[in-house]
Amino acid sequence: MTIDPDENRLLLCSMSLGYTAYHVWALQSRRERRYNIARIFEASSCVKRVRAERAFQSLGEVGSTGENVSRALDGLEPNAVATGPVTGTSPLSRDLLSRASRALAEGRDLNAEEIGDLYVCSNCGELIEGEPPDVCATCGTVREGYLPFRAAEAMGNLGPYSIVRKIEQTPATLRAIIDGLSNEQLSLRVAGHSLKELMGHLTDMDVVFRERAWLILETDNPRLPSAHPPTLSRATGYNTQKIADIIDAFQTSRQQSLGLLRGLTPAAWHRTGYHVIYGTIPLTHQGNWLVDHERGHLIQMAQIRHDLLQQLGGPGQLKLPANLVPEILQGE
Ligand SMILES: [Zn+2]
Repeated sequence: MTIDPDENRLLLCSMSLGYTAYHVWALQSRRERRYNIARIFEASSCVKRVRAERAFQSLGEVGSTGENVSRALDGLEPNAVATGPVTGTSPLSRDLLSRASRALAEGRDLNAEEIGDLYVCSNCGELIEGEPPDVCATCGTVREGYLPFRAAEAMGNLGPYSIVRKIEQTPATLRAIIDGLSNEQLSLRVAGHSLKELMGHLTDMDVVFRERAWLILETDNPRLPSAHPPTLSRATGYNTQKIADIIDAFQTSRQQSLGLLRGLTPAAWHRTGYHVIYGTIPLTHQGNWLVDHERGHLIQMAQIRHDLLQQLGGPGQLKLPANLVPEILQGE
C-alpha cells in the first residue's frame, strides 16, 4: 500500500485531530467516573495516534534524534488541510459510542456485560473488542503487539508495593494541607466543598475500599458492594466536627487498611471480586482505584489551601473565582 505525500499529510492532520479529541474526552469521562466509556475514548485515541505516527513516518519527518532536534528547532509547519470527519469513523467505533450514548442516557457508565476488553494493533491501529486474534487481520502483527485497554487495568497499573507506598503517605499530606489554616477556613466551602468535608469523604472511601478488600481476601470471587459508595454530597456532616477528630478518624481507618494489605502475597493481590461496572477484577484494581480517587482529591485540596492563603495575602482578593476546582469526583 503506497500513499502519496498529500494523502499522508491529510491523514496526519485528521488523525492528530482525532487523537486529541478522543484523548480529552477520555479525561473528562474519568472526571465523571465513567471508566468504561473513558476506555472507549482511550482506545479510540490510541488508534488515531498509531495512524498519525505512521503517516508522520511516511512523510520522512523522522530521523535520528539529532536530526529531529534540528527539525524541532526549525519549527514544523503543517499545511492546513480540510480533513472531513475525524471521529466515529469505523463501524466498531460507532457501535461502541452508540452503546456509551445509551448508558449515559440512563445516567450511568457502561457495565461489565455491555463492553469487553479493547485492544489496538500497535502497528496499524486496528481496534478489537474482546480477545485479540493471533495475528492482526489487517497487517499481520502478532497478538503480543496489541496495546490493551482492559477493564482490570482501567484504574491504573500500580503494583502492590507502589499502592501501599502511596496510601501510606496520605495522612502526612493531609496534615500538611491543613497546617496553619483556621477552623473557619477549614470549614469554608470553596467551589462546593470544604477541606473538612473532603477529608471526611476520604475516610468514607477508605472504609468502602477496606470492606471490598476484606471480601476479596476472605471469600471466593465475591460480588462487591459497588453501586452506591458514599458520595461527597453525603460528607456535609464533617463540617461541624473538629479537624483533629477528622484527621484522627482518617489515620485510624488508614492504619486498618494498611494492616490488611501489608504482607499480602502476590497471589493474594491477584484474588478477584466481581464488580458490576468492571466485571471480574483483582485486588490491585481496587488498590489503584483508591490511589486514583485520593490523588484527585488531594490535588483539589492543595488548590483550596493555595487559594485560601492567596486570599489572606492581597487586598481585593477576598472573593474566590468560581470553578477553581474541576468537577467533584464521585465515588465510582
Ligand atoms: Zn495491525
